[in-house]
Amino acid sequence: ATTAIWIRNDLRLQDHPAIERALLISGKPDDRILFVFHVHERYFKKDNPRVDYFYKTVRSFSDDLAAKGIGIRFIYGSAEDAWHDFFDQFPDVTAVVATMDPTDFALERDALVKELTVARDVHFELTESNHIHHQHAIYKDDNTPYKVYTPYMKQWMKRSVRPLIAIDHAKLSEKSLNVAMNRDTLDQQLAHSRWDWKAIGEKNAHKRMTQFMEERLHAYDEQRDYPAIAGTSRLSPYLKTGTLSAVQVYHAAYAALENGSKGAETYIKELAWRDFYNMIHSHYDDLKHQEFQEKFRHLDWRNDPELLERWKQGQTGFPLIDAAMRQLNQTGWMHNRLRMAVASFLTKDYHLDWREGEQYFAERLIDYDEASNVGGWQWASSVGTDASPYFRVFNPVRQSKRFDPKGSFIKKYVPELSNVPEKYIHEPAKISGKAKEESGFEIGVDYPNPSVDHSEARLKAIAMFEGGSSS
Ligand code: FAD
Repeated sequence: ATTAIWIRNDLRLQDHPAIERALLISGKPDDRILFVFHVHERYFKKDNPRVDYFYKTVRSFSDDLAAKGIGIRFIYGSAEDAWHDFFDQFPDVTAVVATMDPTDFALERDALVKELTVARDVHFELTESNHIHHQHAIYKDDNTPYKVYTPYMKQWMKRSVRPLIAIDHAKLSEKSLNVAMNRDTLDQQLAHSRWDWKAIGEKNAHKRMTQFMEERLHAYDEQRDYPAIAGTSRLSPYLKTGTLSAVQVYHAAYAALENGSKGAETYIKELAWRDFYNMIHSHYDDLKHQEFQEKFRHLDWRNDPELLERWKQGQTGFPLIDAAMRQLNQTGWMHNRLRMAVASFLTKDYHLDWREGEQYFAERLIDYDEASNVGGWQWASSVGTDASPYFRVFNPVRQSKRFDPKGSFIKKYVPELSNVPEKYIHEPAKISGKAKEESGFEIGVDYPNPSVDHSEARLKAIAMFEGGSSS
């Protein structure tokens, strides 16, 4: 008998519940394991950074398997066609094991594949998802889900976390079939890729994790808000692709927590946000499309494609906002402080619908995670759980002065401002006199004027939340 390990957002060889499970199922000497990856038609040939990053990680994973003498079968097309073909080609497959992916898209797809397996008398099994405590692990005393982060996190912090799973790689190599990969179609797609990612794959992920834990974790609480400093772990793309498990990251930070590190405590509480949003997302209906807070489900958001485009391109005339959006466009990642700032800007300065921003992040972020992104957007636009209150509106200039005081992050991503002296970097429209002459900088020519009056926009946002109109 052969057990198929269906690989998805779990592109690693260590601490892997589905591999562990497949090894257990394949206990008899003749039992075999077969890795399989389904390139879904929905994502195939999509010219988009997030998909590109993901498939390159898939490619790296299949190279890692090949180095161990293990093949992985790529199958293509709709779930139905791809899996029918697969079962026809590999009639010995009696079980399919995969890591649970709790997104709506994955749940639907898995339900469909499960039906196919039932029809063929193949066992289908999902293991735990890539979270530290899954969506049903923590409830309030009355058995209802938490709606607020802090009490959830307090329970979360008390729970013990499962130990790391040691995979017997020699046994895995011995049991696994070395099938022809059938990767050419994917390779051809990636050959035309416009993106060049650094540090892809499991080895790089561990290197980055170790480096962060050794060098920067202790100062995380002090440095995490400054985009010009490498103060955060930047592990989110690895968590998204499952190149690292969340449990691995937790254990890597835990030793420092036990030693009383404030940085480690703050960091681990951030990992709890990831679980919190996953829990919320799976318990409440359709949060990708509707606000958690019912009273804010019919706000009068503005519809202005031109402003939306300015925001997307980093041409708002607010240097920190523009630098942030360009960081996203150029690198597929954005610092957390900036995600909050640009989300607040889109919704409370431009009064555009948070769903527009959520959608743009979904296309661009290599760490796009539906639950965290929707949670983050609803938080920043004051319509979600724990949302920042609607009357507290980020001031984009003050944020800039506070979190990028010297403007070094701004200058990196908005080179038009590189000659502007520090004093004016946050409000280049104010440059005048000698400074203007010396820099040769011309507002409105070299860089846009501020596209909105923040004080007015703030009042309009508050009025919108209080039942008025934004336009
Ligand atoms: P670190 O500061 O090193 O944190 C470690 C890990 O903790 C992160 O990798 C992440 O897994 C988790 N984490 C940290 N903060 C949060 C948070 N607020 N919510 C959930 N998990 C968190 N995160 C995503 O992974 N995918 C998204 O699509 C996403 N969209 C966001 C959209 C908005 C509007 C906002 C405000 C936040 C969003 N976040 C998202 C959360 C956060 O910005 C990123 O997780 C973080 O910037 C990733 O960088 P890092 O790995 O260096 O984080």
